[in-house]
Amino acid sequence: MQALKALGQNFLIEESIAEEIVALAELQPSDKVWEIGPGKGILTTEIIKYNVQLRAFEIDKRLQKYLSQRYGNKVLLEFTDILKADWFSYLQKDGSSLKLIANIPYQITSPLLSLLEKYSSFFSRLVLMVQKEVAERLSAKPGNKHYAPLTIRLGLVYDIFSKLQVSREMFYPVPKVNSTVILMLPRANKPLISNPELFNKLLKIAFAHRRKTLANNLLPVLGAEKTAKLAELSQLNFKKRGEELAEEDFILLSDCWAAL
Ligand code: SAM
Repeated sequence: MQALKALGQNFLIEESIAEEIVALAELQPSDKVWEIGPGKGILTTEIIKYNVQLRAFEIDKRLQKYLSQRYGNKVLLEFTDILKADWFSYLQKDGSSLKLIANIPYQITSPLLSLLEKYSSFFSRLVLMVQKEVAERLSAKPGNKHYAPLTIRLGLVYDIFSKLQVSREMFYPVPKVNSTVILMLPRANKPLISNPELFNKLLKIAFAHRRKTLANNLLPVLGAEKTAKLAELSQLNFKKRGEELAEEDFILLSDCWAAL
């Protein structure tokens, strides 16, 4: 079977790494687990050793026969695009303390992370292999060039840790980039935001032009009067750039905007 680049098919070939990845999920026999993109099953084989209930989503129907023969009676196989799957109905079946393990196809990273953000309350532990640069973005602090809206949005709901560096040589075909395995745990004290939609809009605006100040990014959207009011109400330094603001600054700013 030819690996398809468009489906991010770079298969892990080193079993000891699969063992390390699955160990990070701290699986218990009663656990319900999701895997995204089982591929040829290197992680799947390791996961089912723990006698968990596994549901695996694979988009590539060429793998249907192979995966069904190998795991049909041990794994709930769903041959569907995870981005188009009815997450809510699967989540209702599988409960609210789900674990997720995946060597994710890199081209779906952003929409997948957005779904994991949206449905964070259903997950208790997530172990994801992502592109090294994505791991850097997710753990970046204010002022760092990797700090981005995604860092802040996911950071509101998960504590994220880089756990394992994996060289690109550990995959076949060999991809262009190296990978990092990250562990995502639901955040204990999630901050309250009065208007999450406005919060996300604010992030987009503040990072629209990274080199511009907060004032210069806000002005074209809010106009001079509202921007000045917001600066006064929040008492934040609007000469700073969006990438220099911490999570609490963005929360304060969006709460003040909601109050305007
Ligand atoms: N888990 C295997 C491993 O570690 O070797 C395969 C990982 S490979 C990087 C990504 C897998 O995700 C492929 O099997 C690919 O067909 C599958 N995939 C790609 N896009 C997908 C999607 N939207 N929904 C479900 N699976 C997808």
